[in-house]
Amino acid sequence: MTVNEQILEEITACEKLLIGIGEEWKAEEMPDIGSLYEKMAGLIKNKDFFIVTTVTDGEILKSSLEQSRLVAPCGNETWRQCSKSCSKDIWEPGEIPQEVCPHCGAPLTGNTIEAEEYIEEGYLPQWKAYTTWLAGTLNKKLLVLELGVGFKTPTVIRWPFEKSVSLNNKAHMYRIHGKFAQLPETVKGKADAVLESSTEFFRKL
Ligand SMILES: [Zn+2]
Repeated sequence: MTVNEQILEEITACEKLLIGIGEEWKAEEMPDIGSLYEKMAGLIKNKDFFIVTTVTDGEILKSSLEQSRLVAPCGNETWRQCSKSCSKDIWEPGEIPQEVCPHCGAPLTGNTIEAEEYIEEGYLPQWKAYTTWLAGTLNKKLLVLELGVGFKTPTVIRWPFEKSVSLNNKAHMYRIHGKFAQLPETVKGKADAVLESSTEFFRKL
């Protein structure tokens, strides 16, 4: 059986499906990223899944993936915040067409970790949903697909995913990355590394 066939079979068989999406999925590197998200939506529909992404371009929010099952802890450029962080307000795209903070007059900026003072309230409700969901994966057949997550912000996906896999005896992980597919000892026997661009891999899945 090829890795592709194996993954498809495990998607069908798992009770819980955790997906991590990282740097390789940035729209600037992948103009047709929307089609990959639609492919994902088709592959995992009807599954009990959760997606964590560190990508901040907001493309995933435009997809048909169930938005209540995803969290973007590094934020989202299409949501706007005050560049001086004078308030915790976050505005939807186009809500403030002038792109100026209505409270202090400072320019607006993307609500992401790149902001001088990142207003984390944007993702916290979904983060809570994620941690609750994750707590429910213990003792369940958990499949983890980590797609293109490198070392830019390893505390968000990479290291916590390794921990979740090491704690769950029914977990299995695929780490797919063009450069950084290596696995630590802690997940030995429970994880497979695929040294290939995760977007290319996913396109062929
Ligand atoms: Zn302001």
